[in-house]
Amino acid sequence: MAALATPDDRKTIYRDIQHQILSCNRCQLSTTRKHAVPGEGRLDSNVLFVGEGPGEQEDLRGLPFIGAAGKLLDQLISSLGRTRPEVYITNLVKCRPPGNRDPLPEEIDACHPYLIAQIGLICPRVICTLGRHALHALINPTWSISSVHGRAVQKDGIFFFPTFHPAAALYHPASKEDLIKDFLRLKTLLQQEKPPWI
Ligand code: URA
Repeated sequence: MAALATPDDRKTIYRDIQHQILSCNRCQLSTTRKHAVPGEGRLDSNVLFVGEGPGEQEDLRGLPFIGAAGKLLDQLISSLGRTRPEVYITNLVKCRPPGNRDPLPEEIDACHPYLIAQIGLICPRVICTLGRHALHALINPTWSISSVHGRAVQKDGIFFFPTFHPAAALYHPASKEDLIKDFLRLKTLLQQEKPPWI
């Protein structure tokens, strides 16, 4: 039987994934990015947040969720009783779509192996998808976010927890209220072995 990866093995695998992302040219986004944005946080976090793709600030600095949407995400994470460095944050696509347009299906597909590698390494108990793109790519492409947000779905031994994107909540006060309520449910999910609503 293969030995389980030690923390040092995991760091090596992580560095390898980061390096591959930083030097990736699998899709056209690599030609317009300033920096690829692999993600950041704790490799043993039990929750992984997946957004859509880097925006302008993230592209400039190579870090996820550091603009206005990121400030709201930080507040939501603290509502879980966590700090940002205690969780892991990444995106569906690791390079900024020009002008913050939606990522194209082929860009999402090209980047997917990196996300799968990150999930495989971190092995989170819960993956919280932020916005419809992450919902569609990771949970179900036919679901509407307004119908399924705030409810956990179990798949392949992981709880997937869809909610709104923090950027949407900045423009729609109703989505912000839903997002805050969803994070209360996420907090319960993270505290419980068996959540009551699945
Ligand atoms: N929006 C995202 O989806 N991801 C980021 O990193 C920033 C804004």
